[in-house]
Amino acid sequence: MKHINILIIGAGISGAVLAEKYASIGKKVLIIEKRNHIAGNCYDYIDDNGILVSKYGAHLFHTNEESVWEYVNQFSEWYPWEHKVIARVDEKTVPIPVNITTVNQLFETKIESEEEMGNWLEQNRTPIEKPSNGEEAVLNRVGPVLYEKMFKHYTKKQWDKYPAELDASVLERIPVRHNYDDRYFSDKYQALPKGGYTQLFENILSHPNIEILLETDYFDVKEEYKGYEKLFYTGPVDRFFDFKHSMTEKLEYRSINFVSETFDAALFQENSVVNYPGTEVDFTRIIEYKHFGNQVSDKTTVVREFTVDEGEPYYPVPNPRNQEIYAKYKAEAEKLIDVHFVGRLANYKYFNMDQAFKNALDLFDTLENKNKVNYKTAG
Ligand code: UDP
Repeated sequence: MKHINILIIGAGISGAVLAEKYASIGKKVLIIEKRNHIAGNCYDYIDDNGILVSKYGAHLFHTNEESVWEYVNQFSEWYPWEHKVIARVDEKTVPIPVNITTVNQLFETKIESEEEMGNWLEQNRTPIEKPSNGEEAVLNRVGPVLYEKMFKHYTKKQWDKYPAELDASVLERIPVRHNYDDRYFSDKYQALPKGGYTQLFENILSHPNIEILLETDYFDVKEEYKGYEKLFYTGPVDRFFDFKHSMTEKLEYRSINFVSETFDAALFQENSVVNYPGTEVDFTRIIEYKHFGNQVSDKTTVVREFTVDEGEPYYPVPNPRNQEIYAKYKAEAEKLIDVHFVGRLANYKYFNMDQAFKNALDLFDTLENKNKVNYKTAG
């Protein structure tokens, strides 16, 4: 067997970053990846219509972290892309996050200023000092009418749970704006990689010290790969421990069924993402990939997203019960020496892409003691 210093399970963001960092300090790295491609859920490719599409849903990069922005710029050129989302509500089309336009369109009001919007929200919201779940978080921000129209049923479709059964943080991902700003994110950097995410990952992983074994389930071969210095595991945490607590307490994940369709038309819809927060359809949103980067093709590829229980785990389900179950696995994980759990599935956390980059970079710094230098210079 070849000599390996660092064994990494999974070629998504966390695995790729750690591979690159260790390769750059001279370590021999092996990545074992179950799928037949790198890039994890960021994986994209050119489809039959000549359009760059993402296999696992649209990925919009946004960050306020200078260190993350600098890091990703080493491996790709990026073009500015400020993501926008619209929603079909009551046979109208309104922007989300909720802003002045959303309220004016839905309620035929004539709000024109931040002050008027503030007043409208004060009259409609249900103040709750410390929202303890997603329902309270939304009621506190926008009140019961918008809660019902835009959040309650979308959330039920997405999570198979009502907002009251989820942590407040899930619904707090979406802000409420007192102005006309209809961008989905407000971060300083909002961009997409020029050649797509797969190419970005190819560049991150192009170091000669990195070897990648695709289509290999680590749990089928783990006895063959024992002589590592460090193991980084990025898969579902319960899988690592053979689901030992799952007989009584199963850690929940949500998966998505992506249903793709081609239309012989220039465009299908007016925006890249259209949300359907009502009960009239079973899917949560429709993505039209051609919009990203204003791509050109005679046809257009449209993907409907149906969230499901079964299938590959994409989202951890943030609520107190799952946190309790996760805590048991975490306690086991912490007992292991030289095995590190990193990323969305291994930490059972609803990370954004930039947080996944940051966590992997920080973990490398912590383990290799680079942060001590920073403390010295800061002091
Ligand atoms: N959400 C909603 N209505 C919408 C969009 C989002 O109720 O039109 C809620 C839903 O619970 C969702 C959460 O807000 O899971 C976070 O949305 P985000 O767009 O950040 O989710 P992601 O893009 O990660 O699927």
